[in-house]
Amino acid sequence: MRTDWTRAEIADLFDLPFTELVFRAAEVHRANHAPGEVQLCTLLSIKTGGCPEDCGYCSQSAHAKSGLKAEKLMDVDAVLAAAAEAKAAGSQRFCMGAAWREPKDRDMGKVCAMVAGVKAMGLETCMTLGMLTGDQARALKDAGLDYYNHNIDTSPEHYGDIISTRTFQERLDTLEEVRGRGSASAAAGSSAWAKAATTASASSTRWRPCRAIRKACRSTRWCRSRARCWATCSPASG
Ligand code: SF4
Repeated sequence: MRTDWTRAEIADLFDLPFTELVFRAAEVHRANHAPGEVQLCTLLSIKTGGCPEDCGYCSQSAHAKSGLKAEKLMDVDAVLAAAAEAKAAGSQRFCMGAAWREPKDRDMGKVCAMVAGVKAMGLETCMTLGMLTGDQARALKDAGLDYYNHNIDTSPEHYGDIISTRTFQERLDTLEEVRGRGSASAAAGSSAWAKAATTASASSTRWRPCRAIRKACRSTRWCRSRARCWATCSPASG
């Protein structure tokens, strides 16, 4: 997997017609996977709500007015019961997410037991727990963690618009720790990095709103309705 994409190369991908992108993606998919198969994954929130981070898009943040109550970390047995149910329903990967800035060391015994128990069922294991130290990344890897999901949100230029309680560099530091702890985790880190680099490039590209929604977004340089714009707008210069 390439991890050395330049911004110019990524911007060129974004300039392609959507159907061309879909075609190329399908070619890569067929070259590496059986075309008629999809992997089923189940995601379980093992610790919900009350996160001290202020990610502007997240209802689990303690800063959000979602009314969500903070819950404690689930018991290992309850998580393993949910994993067994997911496996019986056809899942091949079981992902566990916690609304934390980072796990406390006192939590690591429990989350590692979850990883080991899920792995022992023959499922692929995936976690997202926030930022990790090197020792925590090592403990998870040793417990049998296959993938670590770590979203770096947006480009450095726009980071403060989305989150004020951490820095872009802190996210990169965790990815480096995860990548350095073993090949399977490294693949997850690389994958996250590739996705993030794409986001960074796209976010730093100025998009002109398409005519149909120009009135709605009232912007001539930076469209707030990015998700809708990307399907229909062409990149503006400058
Ligand atoms: S760190 Fe995760 S759980 Fe916490 S507010 Fe951000 S996205 Fe939500």
